[in-house]
This record gives sequence, structure tokens and C-alpha cells, in this order.
Amino acid sequence: MMDIRNIRERAAEFQAAADGKKITISIVELLETDERRRELAGQAEDLRARRNRRSAAIGAKLASGEQQEAALEKEQIRADKAELAAIEAELDTVLQHYRDLMDLVPNLVSADTPPGASDDDNVTVHVSGQPPEFDFEPRDHIELGELHQLFDIERGVKVAGARNYFLKGDGLKLQRAVQQLALDLLEERGFTGMDVPLIVRTKAMRDTGFFPTGQDQAYRIEGEDAWLVGTSEVPLIAYFADETLDMKEPIRVAGVSTCFRSEVGSAGRDVRGLYRVHQFAKVEQVIICRGDAEESERLLQEMTRNAEDLLDLLELPYRKVAVCIGDMSQKNFKQYDIETWMPSRNAYGETHSSSNVGDFQARRAGLRYRGEDGAMHYCHTLNNTAAAVPRLLIPLLENHQREDGSIYLPPALRPYMGGREFLTAP
Ligand code: AMP
Repeated sequence: MMDIRNIRERAAEFQAAADGKKITISIVELLETDERRRELAGQAEDLRARRNRRSAAIGAKLASGEQQEAALEKEQIRADKAELAAIEAELDTVLQHYRDLMDLVPNLVSADTPPGASDDDNVTVHVSGQPPEFDFEPRDHIELGELHQLFDIERGVKVAGARNYFLKGDGLKLQRAVQQLALDLLEERGFTGMDVPLIVRTKAMRDTGFFPTGQDQAYRIEGEDAWLVGTSEVPLIAYFADETLDMKEPIRVAGVSTCFRSEVGSAGRDVRGLYRVHQFAKVEQVIICRGDAEESERLLQEMTRNAEDLLDLLELPYRKVAVCIGDMSQKNFKQYDIETWMPSRNAYGETHSSSNVGDFQARRAGLRYRGEDGAMHYCHTLNNTAAAVPRLLIPLLENHQREDGSIYLPPALRPYMGGREFLTAP
């Protein structure tokens, strides 16, 4: 939950953030609900105090033989009880409404977040490498996959429905190679790798800000308070929930997980190939640091750089974009996306998403530390993709193909691919 005092003081900014992020909430209504909540709580408190005074008075009156007055007090206590019950019932309703509204309040965005309504308004801040110029008719990743027997989409659909696939042979090897390279790079840079639960409780989804706004993207385990994760960010942040953390150094963890996405709302988009699927594998960076804006900004640059370095090792052309407010989720304070060149799309496609979430998740999940001033403070949290596959296989296969159909493997990948320099077609 965002801090209600902060929302009161900066109501117009919170409304602007909600409008910019296309979240339907009236901050005025929230503040009115908050006022009513406090008013009712005050009234309930007063009534309880009056009831206690009256109960004490009854004893005194009975002792001094004032039977009639004592009976009158008793009657008034009954009236107070009824009034209190009505107020408590209204308070319950108002409190629920207040919590529902608070759940929807977005994080504010950084001063350098670009304005805009959609990813068309994202601003390119860095370009690395050049898209390749082929002097032959290049194949797309689906054709390359068929040639090298890397995956089987048709049977994926037969077995599991649209947006599903099987990886096989060198396709599976390549997927694991990219992931292991990413994990090794992160471990060298101080991250602790973690294998995480793929099924989490509603609380974890809510604490991390994926619910309620993103609930339609998640798969529920029927009959249980349990959901399949869409990213290991959820269990990694929830791992530290409701704890007092040692923040002498930022906590750096790298989650390795399968991710499940319903992709509701994406009907008809990216239906060909491996770009948008229901199940994929991701190595995810998560950093938790002190609630210090300069520190979390520095770490955002660091974790974005980690992803760029991985793409450099894979010798892939990419660009880094500053994500505009209209393309940001409720929780994010500042975001970069990295988009890698995909020849078959004749465009850059998003492969990484790097976000400074400020104290938004820390407040919801209760991630705190004791500061040098002796007081408790909320942490800041950050996350970024390190490698999401199979999407990353698209630029890897398509950019590195040769005319004969073979695929060049950059030196960084070779130790994970049995030393091979090329995938050669069988
Ligand atoms: P997100 O966690 O939504 O920021 O996504 C992080 C990365 O995961 C994206 O940049 C993609 O590389 C990958 N990704 C997200 N959704 C999908 C999907 N439905 N299918 C394949 N890859 C995905």
C-alpha cells in the first residue's frame, strides 16, 4: 500500500499517475473514503468509551440505592450497543472499500519518465550494434527451427493448445545454454541464484503488485489459494516479506523459473512462432536495497547493464528505450526496456524489462530495515530480465544464420554447447 499521508499531500500527482497508467481510480473518492473511515472509527471509539463509563456508573448507582437511575443507564447502554453495531457494520464496509481503492493506487513515476500512451511513445536512449544485412533470403526462426529440429510448435498446439511448443535436441540445449550463461554472469556479479516455487499464494501476488490489476494474466490452481507465477520476481520478493533485512549491502538474487502467462488481451497478436507463448523460461534479476532514491537509480543502471552485457556476449544488436508512463504497470517508478533486433519482424522486439519499483512492493510486502537513524524504513526493490527464452532464441537464430542454414554460435555460448562454433543442419 502506498502511504496514505503521501497520497493526501500529493493527490493530484497520484491521480495523474493513475490516469497516465490507465488505472481507473478516483483519488478524491479514496480520500473521502479515508475521511469517512477515520470519522466512523472515531465515533466507534467514543461510543465504546461512553458504554464503559455507563457500565461503571451502574455499579455506583446500585450501591447508592438509585435503582431507577441504574435501570435508565442499562437502557442507554442497550441503545449505545445498537448504535455501535450499526457504526461497526458501516465501518467494515467503508474499510473494505478503502482497502480495495488503496490496492489500485499506482506508484508515482520518476521525473525523467517520458509522457505517452503506449510503447510507440517510448524513447530510444541507446542503440548497440547494427541489424545484419543478408545477401541471401534469410529464414525466420520457424524455418530455422524446422531445419535444425529445434522445436515443434504444431505438436505443442496439439497437446496443449495455442501458444505452446516443444523444445528438442539443440533447441533445448540452446535454451539451457543461454540461461546458464546468464546465471553465470550474474553470479560473477554478486547475485545468488535461486530456484523458486512456481505456485504461490494470493498474498504473494498482491504483495508484489501483480494483483489486483494483473490478475487476469495469471493461471489459478482451482480450489486452492494458489497461482502459477508469471515471473520469479513474485516468489523472490515474497521470500523476504514481513522481514527486517540487513541492508549493509543490497540483496542481489537471480531467480530461475518457468513463467506462465494467460496472455488475455493479446488475442491475434504475435501468433506465429515463439514470440508470445503461455509458458517460457526466465532468469530474472531482483535487487533489494535501502530506500534511497540515488541508490536504487544506480542499481537500475547496473541491472540494465547486466542485460546489455549478456546481449553483447551473444553479439546481438539491440536498443534500450525509456518506457513511457502509458506503457508502465501500476508498480513501476522508472523503467527501461531492451529490444533486440529480430530480422523476421524487421523490427526490434522486447526481450528485457528493467524496473525500479521504489518502495511500492516493499510497503505491500513489508520489506524493512533499520536505518542509521535507528528508525525502521521501507526498502526499494528492482527487477530485470537476464534471459527470457525461447523469445531470445528468435534474435539468436535469425541474426546468426548463414546462407547454408547453419547458425553461428558466439564464443561465450560455446562452452555450454560442447565447444561447437556453428549449429549445422542435420
Ligand atoms: P515481463 O516480466 O512482462 O517484463 O517480461 C520480461 C520478458 O519476458 C520480456 O521482455 C520477454 O522477453 C519475456 N516474455 C514476457 N512475456 C512473454 C510471453 N508471453 N512469451 C514469451 N516471452 C515472454
